[in-house]
Amino acid sequence: MTRRATGLISVLLLLAACSSGGGRGADPAAGPATTATTASAAAVATPAPVATTAAPSPTLATTTIPPTTALPPTTAPPTTPAPTAPPTTTPPIVQQQVIGHSVEGRPITAIERGTPGGTAVLVIGCIHGDEDAGMAVVDTLMTDAVPDGIDLWLVPSMNPDGQAHQVRSNAHQVDLNRNFPQGWAPLGQPGDSQYAGTGPASEPETKAIVDLVDQIRPSLTVWYHQDLNRIDVGTGRAGQIQRRYAELTGLPVAPVTGGTYTGTATQWEAAKVPKGVAFIVELGPTLDGAGAATHAEAVLTLASTG
Ligand SMILES: [Zn+2]
Repeated sequence: MTRRATGLISVLLLLAACSSGGGRGADPAAGPATTATTASAAAVATPAPVATTAAPSPTLATTTIPPTTALPPTTAPPTTPAPTAPPTTTPPIVQQQVIGHSVEGRPITAIERGTPGGTAVLVIGCIHGDEDAGMAVVDTLMTDAVPDGIDLWLVPSMNPDGQAHQVRSNAHQVDLNRNFPQGWAPLGQPGDSQYAGTGPASEPETKAIVDLVDQIRPSLTVWYHQDLNRIDVGTGRAGQIQRRYAELTGLPVAPVTGGTYTGTATQWEAAKVPKGVAFIVELGPTLDGAGAATHAEAVLTLASTG
């Protein structure tokens, strides 16, 4: 500031001197004098701005180009291999959540795949602990490509305690497929294979599924059991879809009988989501990899066409 002010003052003084020198003589003198003045003024006051504004722009222009040209080659290589691998081999998992815990504290997990908010399809690999072959179907569905628009929900097992002990019931000895709130009735007592529990949805495992179904309202639900090797006979749209599933998997359609069917999961879902279809698949005593793949494909076919 001070230096600039001093500079200006000296310019003014010089100009004053020139004009006081006045008249015509000022012209020739003024020329060089003015140039000199301007030059000296520029040297004192303006040099910094002039020099900096002129020089940086070419410098900037030259420095901007190299990074831009240098960036693409580094960005391109990583992008090329990335998209090719994941979509084909491992389609993404949207989310995995613990929807509840069993009586003995084991987590009950639900995995969401496909299109969130699309047509919800739910697959329960195991409800009766000693009938867990359907978990192989869920395993296959964990990596199969999910058709567009399908919001696929997978619950490998809703009865991890029964599975751990290889028994039908949960750790309260309740048959979870008699414990659902729709049409629940007291049935049996602890130790009986169809013991219905102390009340509708008295078991934490049942509550976990009730909450999940409330949340996602599936259009299609498949429940895996063993080992009657059949698809139950159904009526209306449900019957149609069950027959289609039977065709796709080669399982016969035949009535499932012999139990007291109060408080079953499918009964509850039919009441809870009237527009949806929920049915059970009775697998045989064993299910190999090819069988699991066939069932998984049948689920996905029905999901997109059903
Ligand atoms: Zn069963």
